[in-house]
Amino acid sequence: MIDLMHIDQQNWKAATIGILGGGKSGIAAAHLATHIGAEVFISENQNTPEIKEQLSEFSHETGKHSDTILNSDLIILSPGISDQILIVQKAVDKGIPLVSEIEFASWFTTSPILALTGSNGKTTTVNLLHDMCLSDGRNSLLGGNVGIPFSENVLWELTSMVESQPVHVLELSSFQLEHIIHFSPAVAAVLNISEDHMDRYESITAYAEEKLKIGQNIKDNGWIVFNADDTYLNTVLDDKDRTIKFSVANPEKSIFKLNASKVYTGDTDNPDILFHLDESRLKGMHNLQNILAASTMADAFGISRNAIRNTITHFTPIAHRLEWIGTVNQVDFYNDSKATNVAAAKAAIESFDSNVVLILGGKDKGKTDFTTLYNSIHPRVKSIICYGNAGEFIQSQLSSSIHCEYSNDFQKAVILAFRRAISGDVVLLSPACASFDQFDNYEDRGDTFKRIFSQLELEA
Ligand code: ADP
Repeated sequence: MIDLMHIDQQNWKAATIGILGGGKSGIAAAHLATHIGAEVFISENQNTPEIKEQLSEFSHETGKHSDTILNSDLIILSPGISDQILIVQKAVDKGIPLVSEIEFASWFTTSPILALTGSNGKTTTVNLLHDMCLSDGRNSLLGGNVGIPFSENVLWELTSMVESQPVHVLELSSFQLEHIIHFSPAVAAVLNISEDHMDRYESITAYAEEKLKIGQNIKDNGWIVFNADDTYLNTVLDDKDRTIKFSVANPEKSIFKLNASKVYTGDTDNPDILFHLDESRLKGMHNLQNILAASTMADAFGISRNAIRNTITHFTPIAHRLEWIGTVNQVDFYNDSKATNVAAAKAAIESFDSNVVLILGGKDKGKTDFTTLYNSIHPRVKSIICYGNAGEFIQSQLSSSIHCEYSNDFQKAVILAFRRAISGDVVLLSPACASFDQFDNYEDRGDTFKRIFSQLELEA
């Protein structure tokens, strides 16, 4: 068995590493484990020809999680797999050490890590931070929950002749933070906590506890950056050592302060301006929080103000996140397909003052109370179109307070939304649900929305 307390003294050539889950991060972990000389065995529940093909170079099983993995000295758990399943329980009973892919990869790099988690805004914020590092001339590697798995970046670092030491910028989900032990970022940050993935967690506190693990091993020269406007984070992190706050609501709590037209440092009488709000293409208060989070992390790590400023003024919003896609008959269309929970949809809705025709629906992630959208909807939204699995339920929750129609089919729902809009209105897809009932993923849903938009444009 691997001794988790003395990782640096392990003889990996004598070890068998079992990997539960043969997705992207499982395969990346397998390559890294092979590189360090370990025997690898991957166990994957799915059984498609594509999966079999992808796993063919490793010892593996598909279509089941048999007891074979219990012969491992260490098990790496992929983020998609709950630790409540039987095979994980058997591994725990047998005393096999269990870690996440993030923990495993972190053992093989000494480069600094800038890691961020939160319920919403992670991808936007880590992309800002990554660009700030690049703009400052750093060799930044972006990975984790976005794009490339951390293990793949670490393997690249080990096998290529990099001249300057890289910095790893990581987006981390709560799933990836389950089963970390030593993982210690130079700067860790938590953006916000709101209900998400309630199909996997018992309570919001249980979910938040996983997220907060990101800062559990911060060293004496490291920092935990957090959003002081988030009531939960403010309560649990306020008096902790090595913390730096950022805040949109209260400039006193922030290094980078916000007023009506700019973000600045120093004091109001003698401000050092970072940027004017109209210089950024990121829309809405939530995106200002993301900008402040990335800037504060970058600043704590020693990235120059120029690089921070340069990134903010040149950054293009990422696809499917409050992405303006065009105008038909003076109706603006915004694609926010990535808003897969209520808090994300709220943030998007609150980026507009009025005249919104809102498309909600898809697959409910569990126990969602859509009436919590009410305060954001009034007075900004004039009409709601609900679609998909959760559509009728959403309609039943909201129709007493607002005009609300239902069409199961996504395409019909988008066309209906367009019909309800008049010149000057906004059609906003910010569905507050996952996409899997009618689409492969949120990108597929957002791309379909764009295609329907193009068709409407042609017909107009
Ligand atoms: P994540 O990677 O955490 O899902 P994204 O940057 O991809 O975050 O944004 C996902 C959705 O969350 C966006 O479509 C937007 O509606 C919403 N959002 C982005 N930033 C924030 C924020 N700081 N607070 C609340 N919602 C946000």
